[in-house]
Amino acid sequence: MDIPRIFTITESNHRIHNPFTPEKFATLGAVLHLEPGTRVLDLGSGSGEMLCTWARDYGVTGVGIDMSPLFTRQAKLRAEELGVAKQVEFIHGDAAGHVAAAKVGVAACVGATWIGGGVAGTIELLAKSLCAGGIILVGEPYWLRVPPTEDVARGCHANAISDFLVLPELLGSFGDLGYDVVQMVLADQEGWDRYEAGKWLTMRRWLEANPDDDLAQEVRAQLTSEPQRYAAFTREYLGWGVFALMAR
Ligand code: SAH
Repeated sequence: MDIPRIFTITESNHRIHNPFTPEKFATLGAVLHLEPGTRVLDLGSGSGEMLCTWARDYGVTGVGIDMSPLFTRQAKLRAEELGVAKQVEFIHGDAAGHVAAAKVGVAACVGATWIGGGVAGTIELLAKSLCAGGIILVGEPYWLRVPPTEDVARGCHANAISDFLVLPELLGSFGDLGYDVVQMVLADQEGWDRYEAGKWLTMRRWLEANPDDDLAQEVRAQLTSEPQRYAAFTREYLGWGVFALMAR
């Protein structure tokens, strides 16, 4: 079981697979006032940076589930490196439908809401693992500016303008689902640049090492077009944030 290989090529050197920086995750942990010993569930935990740094900095424990064997391996290594391997566990698997055996204080899905079939389904799934009064974290894109045309939306790698909402609408949609938004931390352009531009050097080095690979042409095409595409579209139109929710 694995995610499409193109992602494990382009993001193999990323510790954070979304437009957050280490500082943003630290801010998120701080503004949530995480108590030592809080249990955290992370669906689509990637290379484990959120859980590992929160275990180190705030004393949480946690379980992360991710479909990528590579990212899961990297998460385990990161836990060893930060000395938190006894506090956090990383499981390779499909997180769709996953409910924690013991209820958690924080249930998160940060940049992978397709796991629950969208934001609403993911919140419903996370709620099944949450103890009373617990916090749900959802990491999700939103439009900074509504794209003027569907072509511009596709330029942002969305399928359509209707894929995302503007920030006030997204915040309102959580209310419609019966949740208070109790915190939020938004990515900035520096975070977007680190996430997107981080792929370019990785692709270049990978191409040099794997010129005859089946995906070499696709990676070559992406490396050629991505910097301009990113600057023209995603960087101008797309925002991203993590929203902390509590049931009303
Ligand atoms: N939350 C992480 C990773 C976000 S990227 C971070 O902030 O860095 C999205 C992640 O979802 C990837 O690591 C990918 O491997 C994982 N993923 C995709 N589909 C999945 C599924 N069905 N079950 C579990 N993980 C999945």
